Amino acid sequence: VMKIGVLALQGAVVEHIRSLELAGAEAVAIKRVEELEGLDGLVVPGGESTTIGKLMRKYGFIEAIREFSAQGKAVFGTCAGLIVLASEIEGQDEAHLELMNMKVQRNAFGRQRESFETDLNVTGINEPIRAVFIRAPLIAEVGEGVEVISTYKDEIVAARQNHLLACSFHPELTDDYRLHAYFVDMAREAAAGRS
Ligand code: GLN
Repeated sequence: VMKIGVLALQGAVVEHIRSLELAGAEAVAIKRVEELEGLDGLVVPGGESTTIGKLMRKYGFIEAIREFSAQGKAVFGTCAGLIVLASEIEGQDEAHLELMNMKVQRNAFGRQRESFETDLNVTGINEPIRAVFIRAPLIAEVGEGVEVISTYKDEIVAARQNHLLACSFHPELTDDYRLHAYFVDMAREAAAGRS
């Protein structure tokens, strides 16, 4: 059984834990860097990316998660978590983890569309998945090694780079846990590659 952590500094934590459990993983909330030990994967949840970034710096998670990823362990950023994973944030001098080779735009879907739900095709998942967007970012550009796995109206809303996964929306807010299952499979592949 894959053991997956959910970074629990701010944002949607319990919903991710529930979806990961539905996907067959053991899921734990992570509040201190020591707790990363023994995990096969980590979810960085949605919330507010500036706040999450600040708390990550304060508690030593920037270096610790970079190291976690360098060991080949899987990381999944959703919404604000996608912003936290990106190498570049439009209009900001500093990014956070800088793990995924992509430029992101925050709050990209405009005021009247602050939040909405839709069905999305995702490469690697058979039928469309239900996606909830809340003040969501989009991926404005992807660099080398990043595969686009989903778009919404020609905008990139999910991408994968080896053992790293990111989506603009909140997959944890529906009963559809297939993207979590996809991530648990990634963590399993990554674990097999390490052993
Ligand atoms: N708008 C938020 C940000 O820029 C992300 C929103 C979310 O995670 N639902 O950090």
